[in-house]
Amino acid sequence: MSSEMRDFMAASSGYDGGPQDRHSCIVLVDMTKNVLLGQFSDYRVPTGGMQVLSDRLRDEFIKLGGEVYTNTPVTGMANCSSGSAAEHHQALLTAAGKPFCSKSVILALHEGALEKLWWRTLSMETAWKAAIPGEASKLFLGFDKPWWREAPFGFYEGAEVSSLDIEHTYFIGTQADHVSANTSTGQSNRNSLVLASYAVAFPAYRWANMEATKANISAFQGRANAFVGSETPLVPNATGFTVSQHMVDLAMHQLHQLHNVNAGTIPPPYTAAAIHWPVSWHNWGIGANPSEVIRKVGQLDAYQNVFICGEAYSKSQGWAEGALRSAEYILEEYFNLKPLAGMPTKWLSRYR
Ligand SMILES: Cc1cc2nc3c(=O)[nH]c(=O)nc-3n(C[C@H](O)[C@H](O)[C@H](O)COP(=O)(O)OP(=O)(O)OC[C@H]3O[C@@H](n4cnc5c(N)ncnc54)[C@H](O)[C@@H]3O)c2cc1C
Repeated sequence: MSSEMRDFMAASSGYDGGPQDRHSCIVLVDMTKNVLLGQFSDYRVPTGGMQVLSDRLRDEFIKLGGEVYTNTPVTGMANCSSGSAAEHHQALLTAAGKPFCSKSVILALHEGALEKLWWRTLSMETAWKAAIPGEASKLFLGFDKPWWREAPFGFYEGAEVSSLDIEHTYFIGTQADHVSANTSTGQSNRNSLVLASYAVAFPAYRWANMEATKANISAFQGRANAFVGSETPLVPNATGFTVSQHMVDLAMHQLHQLHNVNAGTIPPPYTAAAIHWPVSWHNWGIGANPSEVIRKVGQLDAYQNVFICGEAYSKSQGWAEGALRSAEYILEEYFNLKPLAGMPTKWLSRYR
C-alpha cells in the first residue's frame, strides 16, 4: 500500500492504514464502498445483541443431542485411531485432554490460533501469508461530570475523529442519563464515560506498548469519586491490561489538542480502563487472491474433511458479517445446507 493510499485511508476513515504490505486495490474498493458509500453495508443487529447468535447456536445444537465444551482450546489435530473408517476421520485434540473423533471438522479460527495447531498444509501456509492481522486498542476515561456539555465545549454527545494517536473518540454520556430519574442518586450521579481512544494498527501498537507493566512506568492510580468511594476508584481489571499514568497523560494532552484548549481546561479523569486486541481483524496482503484463498482454506487440500471459516478468510474482513458469511458459505457449499432463511438471495454472491 502506497503512502498516498495510507493518507487516503486516514483522511477518509480516521484509521491508520496499517502495514505497508496490504493489498491496495482491495483496501481502495472496501474503503470506498463500505466506509464512504456504505454500499456493501446493510447494518443489522440481532434483537438482544450479537451474543444471541452464539447462544441460539449452542441451544439448538444441544437440542439436537450435541455437547458443548467452553474454555476448552483446540490444541492439535490427528488421525483417529479407532472407530469405523477411522482413517477418514479427524481427531480434535483439546486442552481437556479428551480427543474428539469426527467425520468433519469446521474450525472457525484465524491464522494466529491455527498456527498454534501442529499440522500444516500448503493451503494453510498460503492463507497465513494472505491475510494480515491488525491490532486495535481502546482507552476509556471516567470523569466526575460531562465536561464537554459545558463551556467552552458545548456539545451533548457524539464522536470525533482526528489524525492524533487517539484516532477515534466517543463521548458516551453520564450515569444520570441512564439511571432512573426517580432515584436521588440517579439524578445527581453525573459520572461520565469517554472512549478517549479507539485506535487501530500502529497507534494501537503504540498504546499497547505504554501499558504500565511493559513500559516499566507507573500505573494510573485513579482517585476517589463521590459514587465509587476512595477504595475502589479503578475499574476492575477484567482484561489484564494495566493503564499507565503516561497513557492517561497522553490521552488528556491529545483531547486538549483536539479541542484547541489550554492544558487543564478538561478536568482530570478519576478512573481509566483499556483493552488491546493483538489480532482484531485481518486484511488481504499484497498479491492475495481472496477467492482462491477462501476456496483453499474452505476445504483443505490435505485434509478433505477439515473446513476453515471466519472473518480472516472472508470477503467482509473486519466485520462480524464476514465471519457469518464465510460460515454460511462452508455450510451451503460443502454440507449442502439450504440458504439461511430470511437472508437476501445475493448474500453469498460475492463468494461464488
Ligand atoms: C475492537 C473491535 C471492534 C469491532 N467492531 C465491529 C463492529 O462494529 N461490527 C462488526 O461487524 N465487527 C466488528 N469487529 C469485528 C468482529 O468482532 C470480528 O470480525 C468477528 O468477531 C470475527 O469472528 P470470527 O468468528 O471469525 O473470529 P473470533 O470472533 O475471533 O472467534 C474466534 C474464536 O476462537 C476462539 N479460539 C481461539 N483459539 C482457539 C483454540 N485453539 N481452540 C478453541 N477456540 C479458540 C477465540 O477465543 C474466539 O472466541 C470488531 C472487532 C474488534 C476487535
